Amino acid sequence: MDSIAKTPSAGSPGAPDDFLVQFQDVKKSYDGASFVVSGLNLAVRRGEFLTMLGPSGSGKTTTLMMLGGFERPTLGRILLDGKPVERLPPEKRNIGFVFQNYALFPHMTVAENVAFPLRYRGIKGADAAARVRRALERVNLGAFGDRRPVQLSGGQQQRVALARALVFEPSLVLMDEPLGALDKQLREHMQIEIKHLQVSLGITMVYVTHDQSEALTMSDRIAVFHDGRIQQLADPETLYTRPSNRFVASFIGENNTLPCTLVSQADGETAVRMPDGSVLKGMREGTNRLAGDLTLSIRPESLVLAGDRPMRHANHFTGTARDAFFLGDHLRLSVEAFGGQLLTARIPVREARRFAPGDTVALACHAADCRLLEA
Ligand code: ADP
Ligand code: MG
Repeated sequence: MDSIAKTPSAGSPGAPDDFLVQFQDVKKSYDGASFVVSGLNLAVRRGEFLTMLGPSGSGKTTTLMMLGGFERPTLGRILLDGKPVERLPPEKRNIGFVFQNYALFPHMTVAENVAFPLRYRGIKGADAAARVRRALERVNLGAFGDRRPVQLSGGQQQRVALARALVFEPSLVLMDEPLGALDKQLREHMQIEIKHLQVSLGITMVYVTHDQSEALTMSDRIAVFHDGRIQQLADPETLYTRPSNRFVASFIGENNTLPCTLVSQADGETAVRMPDGSVLKGMREGTNRLAGDLTLSIRPESLVLAGDRPMRHANHFTGTARDAFFLGDHLRLSVEAFGGQLLTARIPVREARRFAPGDTVALACHAADCRLLEA
């Protein structure tokens, strides 16, 4: 039963009803002196896979704990289905949770572990057993109910934790670095599995990770956290191609970030002066007004060997090779240019040549791939 009174705007895009979760000016301080989360405004759409991505200590877990009801915001409001929930205990929020260390109870069977959240909700007997069976089948562990956690592989234990989060059919599931303990291959497999499950069950997911490739793989949108604040909120492609500041440019994928100063700015095209005095053209990004000192950001894969491909609207420059590493599908070339700046270029192997340290390298990049950020 949906107890929320629908407003006339229900269903129209961007209406508050589209959002299952809303953080409104949320701040959190543990010590009463400094905020570990500040000015948090974030709305999560129904059915969305939203990831909070950021380095350790950036406030991701704290944010998730406030949504789950395990921590109270110091200031601000959190709305779930349009209703404030700051005072609701976790078990009244209908939220499934997979914690950072998803600790299963070792003395309980798999089925007992999965049934655990049902106890809190007063669901017992045949109803509980049927729900447990359904949850285990969903994660392909239908035959494992009688085992103990120690008799399962890491990936299977992870799936039990998932079944435990899904067993009471929550509309919202929170996961905090759930795959951190698994090796790379299993982690990548589970990423796809969790994503499929989220889509097929139509669950809204708020997922925490510090792993940018995990975030790019799984998410509809990513909120990049740093110092307790969201630096950028966007879909994976936008985040990768149009980072709005230096932090995002360096945290998502790899980026060469070079100091430069503004020379001129006409609509769409901006010219900047590099440390050696040369002038490059770039796209302005992430900020309306540019002035003075800027950062030019170029992805390693956007740098190409000049002359290999005809390029229009491109910047050309030369540098000196410092190092070259063969990495199977590409050559990783490190080049000094613009008066002492070190750049990395990623050259596809079929376009690569041999480089010795000291060789002169002519490089080019499209102006559209040269993004200008605030210094
Ligand atoms: P993340 O999950 O992004 O690594 P956290 O939310 O865990 O970040 O932590 C953010 C900051 O809050 C860190 O500086 C951390 O030390 C601090 N912190 C987290 N939990 C507590 C707590 N229970 N008491 C005091 N400080 C905490
Ligand atoms: Mg954390």
